[in-house]
Amino acid sequence: MKFDLQIKGDLENVQEFVPSPLETFEWHMKFKCAGCGEEKDTYRVISLNDTSGTKLGRGEAHLVETCQFCRHANNASIVGFEKAVGIPYTESDDGTFKTVCTFDCRGLEPTGFRFGGGYRIASSKSKTVFNDVTFEDNEWTDYDEEGKESISVLNLEYRFVRRK
Ligand SMILES: [Zn+2]
Repeated sequence: MKFDLQIKGDLENVQEFVPSPLETFEWHMKFKCAGCGEEKDTYRVISLNDTSGTKLGRGEAHLVETCQFCRHANNASIVGFEKAVGIPYTESDDGTFKTVCTFDCRGLEPTGFRFGGGYRIASSKSKTVFNDVTFEDNEWTDYDEEGKESISVLNLEYRFVRRK
């Protein structure tokens, strides 16, 4: 079962923001077990660089776990990146939901996402780039010295959409 992670935010003087570098970016996710419906309170970290062999003999996954309750062996993987480049959220996406990552989940259903850190943000007013940005309380503000404008990403939201 594939799930798209869609995000939206309000951009001020931002050309785009994107997870960077994608290989080591940490997706903080919450899941529930599709077998028994049990939801975990804690966030799990999924990263492209981090794979482990699954017990199902289907090769590798980015997250493998056995449900504490029903003992199902579940896994989840990041899919859809042919190049090691993230999908940017750009000024033309401002205020609308956009898919930025897709997860292939077997026995798991994503229920939560935390934006966290590790983003690269480019100004639309100058060539200024902010690296390793962390979103706190789903927002970020700074000042672009070269563009002489404040720059911000506000009201970040997410949702998961199950692929048909
Ligand atoms: Zn379970």
